[in-house]
Amino acid sequence: MKWTCFLIIFALFSCSRLAQRTPSAKTPERHVVFDIDWTIVSEIKKPTPEILKNKRLIKVQDKTYYVNEGLEEFIAEILSHPEMKISFYSGGESIRNQELLSKIKLKDGRSLLQIAYKIMSKEDLVIMDAPVGARFSERYKKDLTKISKDMDQLIMFDDTPNFIKNSEQAEHVFFIGKALEHYETFLETEGTSGEYVPKNYDEWFLNNKKLVVLNGVFREAYTESVEDGIPFSETMKKREGFLNMADHEWNNQTSIYFKKIQKIDFSRPHPKGVSCQQMARSLIGF
Ligand SMILES: [Mg+2]
Repeated sequence: MKWTCFLIIFALFSCSRLAQRTPSAKTPERHVVFDIDWTIVSEIKKPTPEILKNKRLIKVQDKTYYVNEGLEEFIAEILSHPEMKISFYSGGESIRNQELLSKIKLKDGRSLLQIAYKIMSKEDLVIMDAPVGARFSERYKKDLTKISKDMDQLIMFDDTPNFIKNSEQAEHVFFIGKALEHYETFLETEGTSGEYVPKNYDEWFLNNKKLVVLNGVFREAYTESVEDGIPFSETMKKREGFLNMADHEWNNQTSIYFKKIQKIDFSRPHPKGVSCQQMARSLIGF
């Protein structure tokens, strides 16, 4: 009798644990789609001796890429929710995309190739009726319905705002701002200039920490979506408007999301004459 009771209690406990881990039939699949170039990786066009020491570099075909800071933690956070699916959508060739994703590993040893729900490549872009000589992102567009038909539960992170099939789908694109080139320290930008070079410490710092900030955005938006029953893309897109990613500027909201995830590493190099602690305080109110 004692054993029967024990077995019944054990079975009930196991079932309730299983129910907690397995999404119920009512839980919709939710999708996060990442663009690849300049969103999860930054191409290093002129590798310096300093950058070549960095363990976050990967070589794919004949190019060197920096895996943007915070990516693995962000992916792991998304995957901690059983109904979440992660896909990648890039204008790059399929072979390149697969090799690149196979070289980025999570802490548990799985590669992004292994955890991906779908990988969309150049072959999966739709051809537009664009004038001869138009830019690549005008001639070809991403079609998010190839990932999921339930667009309410889908958001894509992209550094190109108009690389999408139509204005309806644009409502599901979270623009992360035009990407700047990766520099190990802000000091390395000295003597360089150009459209893609960080103009000041704030820009450099935000460019490096974008995925950390977006992880904070996701946590809050996901919770709101689940608790209040609001479509996931809506809770995410609303927060895009809270940030100044397009202008490469920190604001209060960016700082809040950043602080949810990461504290400042005070050992990192900083601009001449300014302590990293001072800089951090002025930037994000520490
Ligand atoms: Mg891109």
